Amino acid sequence: MTNMKHALLIVALVVCHPVHPGHDRLRAQDARPTFTVGTAMAQRGHKAYGVIHVPLGVDAGYDIPVVVVHGARPGPVLAVVSGAHGTEYASILAVEALIDSPSANPAEVSGTLILVPLVNVPSFERITPHVNPIDEKSMNRYYPGNPNGTQTDRASAVMTKEVVEQCDHLIDLHGGDLDENLRPYSYWTVTGNQKQDEFSRGMVLAFGLDHIIISRDRPKDPNASRFLENTASTRGKPSFTAEAGRSGPVEASDVALLSDGVLKVMGHLKMTRRAVAPVAKPVWVEVTTVASEYNGVFFPQVSRDAHVTKGNRIGIVRDYLNRPIAEINAPESGIIMFIRALPSLKKGDTIASLGVVKQDPK
Ligand SMILES: [Zn+2]
Repeated sequence: MTNMKHALLIVALVVCHPVHPGHDRLRAQDARPTFTVGTAMAQRGHKAYGVIHVPLGVDAGYDIPVVVVHGARPGPVLAVVSGAHGTEYASILAVEALIDSPSANPAEVSGTLILVPLVNVPSFERITPHVNPIDEKSMNRYYPGNPNGTQTDRASAVMTKEVVEQCDHLIDLHGGDLDENLRPYSYWTVTGNQKQDEFSRGMVLAFGLDHIIISRDRPKDPNASRFLENTASTRGKPSFTAEAGRSGPVEASDVALLSDGVLKVMGHLKMTRRAVAPVAKPVWVEVTTVASEYNGVFFPQVSRDAHVTKGNRIGIVRDYLNRPIAEINAPESGIIMFIRALPSLKKGDTIASLGVVKQDPK
């Protein structure tokens, strides 16, 4: 095509577009007049409440609560999930707060927001950290799930079908569990797909937490994705995970970091009119986990967010008669992303997650 023909075509398109006879008809045709997740069916411009049913199998079934905010105008579908670990309370309360946030009012939203505040209802009810007490499985390790497995497998399968497959982007919210004294951070997953990774990086920077873990070791196989975020990422949907809150009592500031972060991402995705500045100079880290080799009583010697040098003492382990067993030292220089918050310690437990500072991976 010559430049002249090209220019004429562009002029023709610009002139024709507003008066094209099919244009108004196309606008009138809504591709998604309703949006349904589980039993929640929202009309365009409305909010609906319901559940995603985990069917009965080798053990009991149960209902995962869900809200669908189907915005007044079409746009991206963003899923926000928390409570895979039902005692990471700040993240759960953050999604509860979003349900009634004026900024997530369907009249103001372009696109659709799927809110799932509590995946692991049994953990929340029984105050059980890390796992689903029904089958003792972590509810963020068995994706994409298995309809013939135990409760966690079946719950993961319905979450994949109802939430992951229907969304364009997913944010999975976590926090310090009952035994984790955690500083807030996000993860940025490197999938190797440059375009997708740039998109998810933009979402993470818009979210606003200034410490970001570079996550390079997630499975690449969508049929063995393990993690919820990775289930979306391996299906080509730019997504990320963020954590805030710590060891039981809820601080409003931690809840606000997460709920406001989601609203910022909605602005970034043009789901709302909010203008968002990306976090300017994040601290990029890769994490090393310090695991216990002992059963005993743990005494932390540093707090969350401490900057430690390789070899610094971060804790002491004593036996049940107060005799010292071991000093725990930092294996590398870095930032304490979280440290064990409770005296209970058994072999294999995580003592600390240490963030080793890296260059901006861009
Ligand atoms: Zn968690």
